[in-house]
Amino acid sequence: MSGILFVISGPSGVGKSTVRKEVMKRCKGLRYSVSYTARTPRPGETNGVDYYFVSEGTFLEMRDQGEFIEWARVHGNLYGTSRRQMEEWLENGLDVILEIDVQGAMQVKMNYPQGIFIFIAPPSLKELGQRLRGRNTDEEEVILLRMTNAQSELQSIRDYDYLIVNDDLNRTMATFRAVIIAERCRIR
Ligand code: 5GP
Repeated sequence: MSGILFVISGPSGVGKSTVRKEVMKRCKGLRYSVSYTARTPRPGETNGVDYYFVSEGTFLEMRDQGEFIEWARVHGNLYGTSRRQMEEWLENGLDVILEIDVQGAMQVKMNYPQGIFIFIAPPSLKELGQRLRGRNTDEEEVILLRMTNAQSELQSIRDYDYLIVNDDLNRTMATFRAVIIAERCRIR
């Protein structure tokens, strides 16, 4: 039997990674597909854990060889999901989580319409700005770009199956876990 593909999107700074990491501790049998990116690592990020950090040249070569199930330029940087890794897990009956932007999620949806698409939204744009600044990892210019992109990403909520507003981490995790449990019980 094939595994379930969970695709999470949401504006940068909404807390997707935190939520995903916590849910994975509590829900067994989930595999996280580590993306490839051509952006430079932030302090504290580890190659192979947060991303596979590659040069832009390597990324474009991989893309041209069809190694990505989806790829996109997000906030000026390239990101992509390994086709081989994702398909291998799904074929082996393992549930997979992708944490990707809206453009990427829509590419995945075309190939895997049976995937479960979850949008994580901030309680407000004001709060999102505060979180991005609080992270202290990006220049103001980058933060402003991410805020502008957030506004257009929020327009895509209707293309998703579930919407979770991340106003409280514990509540968000509980809701996310409930979605996973319900989808695992669904008769397909
Ligand atoms: P960050 O640079 O803050 O880690 O990520 C920026 C954005 O890129 C986030 O919205 C994240 O979900 C998205 N992203 C990360 N990996 C991928 C990927 O493999 N494909 C796509 N399309 N977006 C990704």
